[in-house]
Amino acid sequence: MNKKTVRDIDFKNKRVIVRVDFNVPMKNGVIQDDIRMRAALPTINYVLEQQPKYLILMSHLGDPKKDVQKAKEKAEKDGKPFDEVKFIEGKCKMKPIAEHLAKLLNKPVKLAPAAIGAETKTVVESLGSGEVLMLENTRFHKQETSKDAVDREAMAKELASYADVFVNDAFGSAHRAHASTETVAKFLPAVAGFLMEKELAYLGKAVSNPTKPFVAIIGGAKIGGKIDVIQNLMNKVDALLIGGGMMFTFYKAQGLEIGKSLLEADKLDVAQKILDDAKAKNIRLLLPTDTVVGDKFDNAASTNVVSVRAIPSDHLGLDIGPETIKLFSEEIRKAKTVVWNGPMGVFEMPNFAKGTNAIAQALADATKSGAVTIVGGGDSASAIAQAGLDTSVSHVSTGGGASLEFLEGKVLPGVAALNDKN
Ligand code: AMP
Repeated sequence: MNKKTVRDIDFKNKRVIVRVDFNVPMKNGVIQDDIRMRAALPTINYVLEQQPKYLILMSHLGDPKKDVQKAKEKAEKDGKPFDEVKFIEGKCKMKPIAEHLAKLLNKPVKLAPAAIGAETKTVVESLGSGEVLMLENTRFHKQETSKDAVDREAMAKELASYADVFVNDAFGSAHRAHASTETVAKFLPAVAGFLMEKELAYLGKAVSNPTKPFVAIIGGAKIGGKIDVIQNLMNKVDALLIGGGMMFTFYKAQGLEIGKSLLEADKLDVAQKILDDAKAKNIRLLLPTDTVVGDKFDNAASTNVVSVRAIPSDHLGLDIGPETIKLFSEEIRKAKTVVWNGPMGVFEMPNFAKGTNAIAQALADATKSGAVTIVGGGDSASAIAQAGLDTSVSHVSTGGGASLEFLEGKVLPGVAALNDKN
């Protein structure tokens, strides 16, 4: 990585602002999983050890406008009352985050009333030596995500006015050109934190200079969200294994009966093109040979293992079958670099989690044999944690969308905006 990092800065007596990704899952004001918070601790502690004048942290938490709308619609559908203030309090406000961070740092963490504005400015100006301040959710301000650069710059300038140095450790938000991720870097010296550096090191090595054999496993519900990843990785891997709901669109494109399985009818051409490209370029693209079908989309469905060539018309495929598990696991165990994004089946239902768990196990085995194994964020990260193997792989990314875009070969605006090394 040719970007400056926290190691290139002397933080002593400096006013420091750090963008973290504390966008953790929240339920009624209770943090459901603090992995992203703990992942930012090395950077926060490193800066604090160097005795900065003060340290300000900023993050978004959920998407207030969208989250309210969704919850409101659900409440209306269920015929339940909806209390918007209470909902926002429990889903998007940073108070529980600041309190939890104080425990993790073993140090008081102050909370600002907003990310920008006169009141927050006063709080910032009153910060004492070595104090830590958490700003309120950056997405409470529409400038944060505005498409208009002038709007974003107005917010970014205010954020920048609080500090002498900007550190970006929010890998999970780096694919967004937002005021607090990208624009603020225009107004301050801007460097990467340790988490950002680590994410880019693992993902960057995998896509640009992987130790071979390099195997990628792509799963999940839809081809739609993964086409660019598949196309980018196709040119780099020794084998590309495809599972999850998207396998059925590939089979439908080949004229097979897929029953009631997930189908993206508008992606049949894309699926066919991927298959044709793989053939033309002599790429090993492996699709499942068998699948676990159910008679309904339900953990209690009555199930059967069938060949992908014999899916009953009134059933749907919900997981990869044992023959595929064996085939995929053998490929993974032979690999020296493995990237995995997307579950192999409906892993949220225990009866259809076997395929996903087996792939997680194969990654753990490959890691033991010396392979570098990387799990993309989002559902794959939940899946490997559910399998209890998240510490048995080389790296689990904290960024779902960001790691996908990186694997697609795209430039992440939050990274591009940081200062180059020389
Ligand atoms: P994605 O966000 O595209 O990675 O998709 C993740 C989702 O794909 C998970 O919620 C899985 O339950 C779902 N999924 C995986 N396999 C299947 C399948 N065979 N049928 C329907 N959904 C699936």
